Amino acid sequence: MYYVAIDDGHGGETAGKRTPPFADGFVMGENMYNDAVGKLLGELLKKHGFGVLFVAQEEGDTSLQTRVERANAEKADIYISIHANAYGNSWNSASGIESWIYSNADEKTERLANCIQKALVEETGRRNRGVKKSNQLYVLNSTKMPAVLVEGGFMTNFEEAELLRSEAYRRKCAVGICKGICSYFGVAYMEKEEEDDMKRYQTIAELPYGKEVMEKLVKEGAIQGDEKGRLNLSEDMLRIFVILDRKNIL
Ligand SMILES: [Zn+2]
Repeated sequence: MYYVAIDDGHGGETAGKRTPPFADGFVMGENMYNDAVGKLLGELLKKHGFGVLFVAQEEGDTSLQTRVERANAEKADIYISIHANAYGNSWNSASGIESWIYSNADEKTERLANCIQKALVEETGRRNRGVKKSNQLYVLNSTKMPAVLVEGGFMTNFEEAELLRSEAYRRKCAVGICKGICSYFGVAYMEKEEEDDMKRYQTIAELPYGKEVMEKLVKEGAIQGDEKGRLNLSEDMLRIFVILDRKNIL
């Protein structure tokens, strides 16, 4: 199993950049985007059979050193650091997506970055700023595995800030990065429809149909779910219950 270390950039409170205030007064801190994309990416990767290591799950800040140490200690196959860009502190026209790798990166790292950059630009339709090199980024020069730092758009560009703030764009970014990783490892990417086929429903409210029969079964104690009451039902299972109910077997 390939093992992916996911780094959500900064902590919620410190470092990182932020958007200028939106018209409604809201200011988005960088970690809000990084963290959301990191979580979505983790879910997608697991669905595609990857192992996932979140290197900074603490509430507060996790030092860069700790993040890297965790990935190195667990021998992750690749390291992905998720960020949003900024240029200055007020709204301006700088825009687009870029990926960063270590200035002395090996061929594998270059290939990984190219795969991710390409897929991310295709998925989001944003401007391609290319793959760039730096020897100043700790998570790139201290990791022992191919490491890529992704900048998913500019928080100081009004149009992109609106996107970075939205669930839909965050998901596109996660999908793009996941597609890039799949392509690097030669793993087939499952489009959403196939993914939906494998979706599992945890609550009655999530069910697309058959709520009444499932409610009845839960109420009667025939189905209890796990310790948190999560039902873990596939669509196939749900369908069978509905059919049995129609036949008055339940
Ligand atoms: Zn950042």
